[in-house]
Amino acid sequence: MSRRAVVIGGSMAGMLAAAALFRSMDEVIVLERDELPDGPSPRKRTPQARHAHILLPSGRDAIRELLPVADVHGRLLASGAHEQSLTGMLGFGPQGWYRRWPTVTDDLLLTCCSRDLLDWTLRDAVLSTTPVVVRRAEALSLLGTADRVTGVRILAEGLEEDLRADLVVDASGRGSRVEHWLEGLGVTDVPTDEVDSGLVYASRLFRVPWGAEGFPLTQVEADPTTSRPGRSGNLVPIEGGRWLVSLAGTRGGEPGADPGAFTDFALGLRHPLIGQLISAAEPLSEVFLSRSTRNRRREFEKAAMPEGLVVLGDAVATYNPVYGQGMSVAALGALALSRQLRQTDVTAPGFAHDVQRAAARSVAAAYTMSTSQDQWFPEVVGRAPTLVDRLLSGYMGRMARVATTSYAVSAAMCKVITLQEDTSRLVHPELLLATLKGPVMEPLTGPPLTPQESAFVNSMGPLAV
Ligand SMILES: Cc1cc2nc3c(=O)[nH]c(=O)nc-3n(C[C@H](O)[C@H](O)[C@H](O)COP(=O)(O)OP(=O)(O)OC[C@H]3O[C@@H](n4cnc5c(N)ncnc54)[C@H](O)[C@@H]3O)c2cc1C
Repeated sequence: MSRRAVVIGGSMAGMLAAAALFRSMDEVIVLERDELPDGPSPRKRTPQARHAHILLPSGRDAIRELLPVADVHGRLLASGAHEQSLTGMLGFGPQGWYRRWPTVTDDLLLTCCSRDLLDWTLRDAVLSTTPVVVRRAEALSLLGTADRVTGVRILAEGLEEDLRADLVVDASGRGSRVEHWLEGLGVTDVPTDEVDSGLVYASRLFRVPWGAEGFPLTQVEADPTTSRPGRSGNLVPIEGGRWLVSLAGTRGGEPGADPGAFTDFALGLRHPLIGQLISAAEPLSEVFLSRSTRNRRREFEKAAMPEGLVVLGDAVATYNPVYGQGMSVAALGALALSRQLRQTDVTAPGFAHDVQRAAARSVAAAYTMSTSQDQWFPEVVGRAPTLVDRLLSGYMGRMARVATTSYAVSAAMCKVITLQEDTSRLVHPELLLATLKGPVMEPLTGPPLTPQESAFVNSMGPLAV
């Protein structure tokens, strides 16, 4: 009998899982309940696409390995996506302004474009270079037993149908019903953790004003150490000469949907630079809100999961979006699937468990990073910081202060934050010593702008600090 994989969800995790599977299966069917647009346009079931979506270098490289022929990254750049060096952007962290360094290395380049462009480019690359097919259908439940999943019950064109599969991948996002479906098969022991800072995201598109064309990615971070709600902002240059500006506030400090208050919120951040930049820019959209921001992790790798089922992407875990990790974790999960397929047959005992365990590595790293910050904000729902968290937070704060003045420390931290190196790298003797020694230069007193950037900002009035 021909071997079939069924992937539930045709977004980032689903398309990349399909890319991982097509060489090993006779048939790969992606089930998607949304109508998928034929171009970089918004769609109903991915409302998060209205907000800034940055692709980390780890995610970019995973996509490269999964789709070596399709050149997704090249296609994105040709469509106007920007590349931004992490150590060359404008960043204001809790410890002050980071210096910007002229060194540019591939492993520290972020990809900045709209999520619509990213989704469409990826989908087009998968569907035009592989035999993967998308079927407009909603997955209703899993078929099989607690020992093995054998397919999916679907609803397509108003009719229910059972679709047999040798492997089912659930990539149906943060709203995934997989726990409920597993309960139906008798699997009930999936450990779950949650840390919710009540973060609200507000995003708006602007036309880049004349004279600000080369302005880099600009980020004003929240300070989790003040016992006050955390407010932050991101100004992301994207295709089409636009800035996508996303502002965020934790419980008690949330932004609203009122366009009139958007710039004021940005001006009221720990530094007003983003507010100043957009005060002269033409808005191109309304303000979009998102409350889908909680950290939630389901540890499927620790549960007695049936054979024949793998869960990837947001269906496994969601993170505070401020850290820009979700899509890259989804890509790394698909890469784990691809690598396992090179070693073992999809029907071999333990195949799904091995994939789930391998995929859990980047999930755990991203989740730990995200929750270790979020747990400090007031009125957070979830576990309270432990003594170890306090010690770690003190160490990380000191390291971040050093990173504002040192390329080596900044680059090392960035490699961990972007999921390219293990968190154990942060206690490497070299880094430990540099952190204990402290900053190697005086801290900056304002944003490190180039003369051209200064001229633009000054044309908008004096820069308040
Ligand atoms: C405000 C915000 C900002 C973010 N910013 C970033 C960022 O900067 N960088 C980053 O990496 N990540 C970011 N993220 C996270 C990112 O959006 C997710 O990690 C990513 O979309 C996960 O992809 P996914 O394929 O797992 O899920 P999704 O993209 O949510 O897709 C799930 C798909 O499954 C389909 N589906 C659901 N149920 C069914 C069903 N029963 N049958 C058939 N189809 C179904 C849906 O229609 C959808 O197409 C952000 C998230 C938010 C909310």
